[in-house]
Amino acid sequence: MRKVDTLITGGAVVTMNAKRDVFSPGAVAIKDGKIVAVGPEERVQQLVECENVVDVSGKLVIPGFVNAHTHVPMTLLRGLADDLRLDVWLLGYMMPVEREFVSPDFVDVGTRLGCAEMLLSGVTTFNDMYYYEEDVAKATADVGMRAVLGQTVLKFPSPDAASYEESLELCRGFIERWHDHELITPAIAPHAPYTTTDDILTDVRDLALETDSPIHIHLSETALEVSDAKRDFGAPPIEYVDRLGLTEAKLIAAHCVHIEPHEIKLLAGVSAGVAHNPSSNLKLASGFAPVVEMREAGIPVGIGTDGPASNNDLDMFEEARLASFLPKAVKADPTALPAQDVFAMMTIEGAKALHMEQEIGSLEVGKLADIVVVDQDAPHATPRFHLTPNNVYSHLVYAAHASDVRHVWVHGRQLLRDRELLTVDLPAVQARAREIAEKINDFMTQREGSLLVKTIAIGGFEQRETFEVQVKVRADDLQGVEKRLQELDMEVIKHSVRQQFDTYFLFGGRDNRYLRYREDNQLVGQEGAGPAGLTVKPSYTLILMEGIVEREYQDSIILSRSRYTATATYSLRFYREYFNPDQEVEVVKWRTRYRVNYEGDEFAINLDNITRPQGLGSFVEIKARTWSASDAEKKAGLISRLLRELGLNPANGVRAEYVQLAEQAAI
Ligand SMILES: [Zn+2]
Repeated sequence: MRKVDTLITGGAVVTMNAKRDVFSPGAVAIKDGKIVAVGPEERVQQLVECENVVDVSGKLVIPGFVNAHTHVPMTLLRGLADDLRLDVWLLGYMMPVEREFVSPDFVDVGTRLGCAEMLLSGVTTFNDMYYYEEDVAKATADVGMRAVLGQTVLKFPSPDAASYEESLELCRGFIERWHDHELITPAIAPHAPYTTTDDILTDVRDLALETDSPIHIHLSETALEVSDAKRDFGAPPIEYVDRLGLTEAKLIAAHCVHIEPHEIKLLAGVSAGVAHNPSSNLKLASGFAPVVEMREAGIPVGIGTDGPASNNDLDMFEEARLASFLPKAVKADPTALPAQDVFAMMTIEGAKALHMEQEIGSLEVGKLADIVVVDQDAPHATPRFHLTPNNVYSHLVYAAHASDVRHVWVHGRQLLRDRELLTVDLPAVQARAREIAEKINDFMTQREGSLLVKTIAIGGFEQRETFEVQVKVRADDLQGVEKRLQELDMEVIKHSVRQQFDTYFLFGGRDNRYLRYREDNQLVGQEGAGPAGLTVKPSYTLILMEGIVEREYQDSIILSRSRYTATATYSLRFYREYFNPDQEVEVVKWRTRYRVNYEGDEFAINLDNITRPQGLGSFVEIKARTWSASDAEKKAGLISRLLRELGLNPANGVRAEYVQLAEQAAI
């Protein structure tokens, strides 16, 4: 008789082996972290000898669940910002807060909290993507859970790296240090095609192949991502990363909600796993992943919770139920994804999606001892039937709750005993989590109260102090002004015609600043080629306007200051949802713009014909940059002269901005 470390007896053992054997009563014997015997209780008892016998009569013994995609430290951002679109949620809330708060201490607390929650819902392995993955690894190994941990790589600075080269170096070091750990599989996690570049993904592939590490990436999560990818890369995301060779490595693709039929074939033909995240896809309204089609094609599909900020929990039972119900409803077919298939996705197929099916995912001799015992005596688990082999799976997927998880072993070590966490000091972890949340709370309260802080938070803004001397005059005859302008003895440096669509965000009493989003369509073409020879060159900018008048001169000429400008890299819709203005005002105009050299100084002359709101009229603006009080004084004098030479009446001067004129017109 062989001596073993632990013998689990009395329960119904749901093996998830190829034959889907269920032994009731069955037994599992563990030695040195591995399963050394599994089968009918009587037979196993004849084979082994053990001092540590755990009797689980009346309960189910199952393989530990594989959470195929998550961002565990985001437990600390749970409930921070909800009911938002993915881009606003991610780029407007999660990433700015992460840049401010994520640290080794943050991920340590968040990981321990997440591990506690996952153990209590029967998870033994998770696939993570986050920052400071070294510290995630230390905490995970300390708790004793198994994980594939992906160090994030991004094209912009992240909380743990100033550049992508730096994050790749972090990946390399992380892989070297954790390569042989019995619980941790280090991985490389380029966040997504839209947050990386060709070069980054190529370097990631090379490192993954060199070190035999998995690549964990978000792919085809939203319809917008796919249409943007087609525009920017000339291919949908999965085809694009295949072209860059990522599919040569052990690829783990999170989401694949909007995967196209030819991409399903593509993934089925390579060594790739998919992580399906039903809660996250539903909550962010990303769509319904074609799970049935992917599985039919032969792609292993695991189930993931995604990060607890987009779920908002790490409960695999809830995910399993949703994973089963979704395709049934979408296809109007209750047979679409049966309970047994979903249970496979939670265990052996999830393991395969992570390229770990040789080690975990089923209760078989030689596999690692990642085992969960589930109670069957709660009201919602009563009664039980044994008519078909499927009864047990329908119990587990449709009726069981996380609260039914009684014991958990990972690598043969018991981490949960009678629902008591043996390796996490939960009250201490919770206290640390609450402390961090308090700080985030203060930060967000301040940010939401200040348009300036909120604007800077999304990045890309240049704090550029610009002083301008300027005047705006009503002019009914723009053609006449333009004719005179051309007759004047001054050098025209540049001349352009553009149609500008301006959207102003106003914030009522909340802030005296306002934002202007401008779509500027410049007509580009050869002079005299006619409209057919012209093309439109659009550009987008966002300006935080402060409306501060520093000084006033004669003829309604003012010295003004503006500070923050940015190339608007996100859509108008994004800014609208992110800033949530009290009021929006639209101004559309044709602008003929001259940049001239007048008396040795440079001026911009804008001939503006406002087409929306209607009836606002036409105006001439003259502007010059300035940098000193005496320079401003001199330029104000030159503008005064220029006004008269252009035949404009200074008495028609207007102090208000176009947005204010448009607002007045609306009243
Ligand atoms: Zn994710």
